[in-house]
Amino acid sequence: MTKRLGIFGYPLHHSLSPLFQQAALDALGIDARFEGWPTPPEKFAEAVEGLRADDCLGCCITLPHKEAALELVDELDAAAEKIGAINTIVNSGGRLKGYNTDAPGFIRGLRESAGFEPEGKSVLVLGAGGAARGIVYALREAGVSRMAIANRTEERAQALARDMSRARFRPDAMSLSIDQLANFAPYADLIVNATSMGMRGSSAVEESPVPPELISGSALCYDAVYVPPMTPFLEAGEDAGAQIAGGLSMLIYQGAEGFKLWTGQDAPVDVMFDAIPPTMRSV
Ligand code: NAP
Repeated sequence: MTKRLGIFGYPLHHSLSPLFQQAALDALGIDARFEGWPTPPEKFAEAVEGLRADDCLGCCITLPHKEAALELVDELDAAAEKIGAINTIVNSGGRLKGYNTDAPGFIRGLRESAGFEPEGKSVLVLGAGGAARGIVYALREAGVSRMAIANRTEERAQALARDMSRARFRPDAMSLSIDQLANFAPYADLIVNATSMGMRGSSAVEESPVPPELISGSALCYDAVYVPPMTPFLEAGEDAGAQIAGGLSMLIYQGAEGFKLWTGQDAPVDVMFDAIPPTMRSV
């Protein structure tokens, strides 16, 4: 029986997951189809129930369902519970378990594609949504020395900093208002854009969350956004003379973690990267 996998999101037109996941399944000769499943919020709970079918291995989850999905699975992986968002569900005999693979995917991309070791570094994360939750958790686990979170809606940054500071990690994450960015950004070794600013389809597609004058020339600017590959935030980083990296590595490595969970096999990451059209590849 051909197995089914897919990605839930709404809208879903920017997703590259079906392309690179199918390439990986085909490369390993796994009889499965990876599909795009555009699903509005009001249909999401019913659609997740459908994952329990015998022919379904599980799914990926993207915007805007990552937090809603927490309530719909039978079990949560321990890290996903702390992060408070899931992007992967595995179906084992009708039982659904939720995982957050954004966190390990981000760190692997940071280390292997951007060549950046976060341990002991000072980091600024912009955004406090589902992606930021995984990124903040992963950076704290990796042993950063200072961590600040800034978000348009300040209460969300405060809540994220509070949630993560309750976990067993040091140091505490602090929240900043956007007006306070100048007090931290110029001293950050790593600045991560985990907002949707700059993303195709966003109302802020032409805006950067940080201006170039607040970015140190010795920093790395990492943008979780991967469509388009070059964003206003990365342009600001380039103008400041900083190193820049787009979000494709996080996308591929979070997908590789999911692939292993669904199939039990290591994902062929080279095949996944090669499946991305050259015009979509990150800097
Ligand atoms: P989300 O939960 O909807 O959060 C969106 C975040 O962006 C919030 O912090 C929001 O601030 C902020 N934001 C949205 N519009 C803004 C604007 N006009 N000005 C300032 N801030 C704004 O989304 P998400 O799942 O975290 O995703 C965020 C981004 O990360 C998306 O671009 C997504 O494509 C990307 N992402 C990439 C990967 C990858 O593998 N590379 C994985 C996951 C996500 P408020 O709280 O104030 O609304």
